[in-house]
Amino acid sequence: MVEIERDEYCAFHFTNRSDGTCASCGLPICALDQSISLTGEKICQLCQNITKTKKISRYFQIGMLVVVVGLVFLVWQLTKGLENGGYYIFIPLVLMFIFPYFIRPYLMRLYFRGIEPKESVLPILRYFEASGSQNHFKLFNKFLKQLTEREIDEMRKSLFSYLIPAIAFNFSKLPVDWEVGLLENLKISFEDFAREIAENYRTIIIQSAVHSSHTNISEFIFYISEVAESKDFLKDYIIAITSSEIISLGDEELQTIYGKLLEDLYLYEEKFTEICDELGLKEEKAKIQSLLARYVPPPVPKTRMESVMKPEQLREKRRKEQQQNVELTYTEPRDGDRS
Ligand SMILES: [Zn+2]
Ligand SMILES: [Zn+2]
Repeated sequence: MVEIERDEYCAFHFTNRSDGTCASCGLPICALDQSISLTGEKICQLCQNITKTKKISRYFQIGMLVVVVGLVFLVWQLTKGLENGGYYIFIPLVLMFIFPYFIRPYLMRLYFRGIEPKESVLPILRYFEASGSQNHFKLFNKFLKQLTEREIDEMRKSLFSYLIPAIAFNFSKLPVDWEVGLLENLKISFEDFAREIAENYRTIIIQSAVHSSHTNISEFIFYISEVAESKDFLKDYIIAITSSEIISLGDEELQTIYGKLLEDLYLYEEKFTEICDELGLKEEKAKIQSLLARYVPPPVPKTRMESVMKPEQLREKRRKEQQQNVELTYTEPRDGDRS
C-alpha cells in the first residue's frame, strides 16, 4: 500500500518539488512562485490575486453604493406623484443585496486569473477540501475539463492525492451525481477510481473516518468498497474501529472523542453486522456490540434554541442542568430546616 505525501510537490507546478509553503494559505509552492505579500513574505499567486480582487471588489461595492443612492433618488423623483410610490425605492435597495451573489462566480474567476488550468486544479481542490462548497467543486471540474488526457496522466498522482481526501471528507456535501462529470473529465472508469481509493488511500481515509468526525464518511467507505469489490477496505475499517485504543477508553472519553463514530455504528448497525458476518469477524462483531451498548444517543432538543445546537453542546447543557438539579435538591431540605 502506497500512501502519497502530497505536500512534497508544488501545488501549482506538480512536477516541481516544493521548497516551502505560502505564508498566507499554506499551499506548498516552489521556486517558480515568486509573489511577495505587502509584508514581504513569499505567497502563492492565488493569494496575490485574491488580495488584488478584494481591492477591485471594494471599488465595486463603493460604486454600487453610489449607483444605488442615485437610483433611489431618481425613483423617488419619478414616483413622487404616484399612490404608494414610496415602495418603488426599495427596488434599488434589493438590487444592492442580490448583486454580490451574482458577481461571486466572476470574482472567483478573477482569483485564478493568469493561472493555467493545470496549475489551478490542485489549489481549487484544497479550497474545496476545506470548504466543501459546491461552487469550488464545480470550478474544479471546469478546470479539469480543460486538461488534455496527457496532462491528466502526467499529474495523476498529485491530482489523486488532493482529490480523494477532498471528496472523502466532503462526501455529504457533494452533489448527488458527483461521479458522472468527474469520471468523464478524469477519463477513468468508476471501478478503477474506486480501486485506487481502496488500495492507495485506505489508511488515510480509515484513520480520519475513525479519529476525526467527517459526516457520512462510513457511507463513503461502504460505497467505494462495493464498487471496488474490496473486502480488505471494510475489514481494515472494522479492525480500526474495534482497536484496543478505542475499546479501552472510559465511557466519558469514548463519548466525547468518538461520539460521531458511535453514532455511525448506531445508524448503520445492520450494515456493520452484515459485514462482520460476511468476513467472519466474530470478535470484532462482539466489540462493536459492546461499543453500541455504551452509546448514549444525543438528547432530544426541547426548544427552538436547542434544535440548532450541536449534539455535544446539547449534551453539555443537559449535564449542567443535571448538576444544577442535584444542587437544588441538595439545598432544599436545609431551606426547609430553617423555616
Ligand atoms: Zn497562498
Ligand atoms: Zn510552483
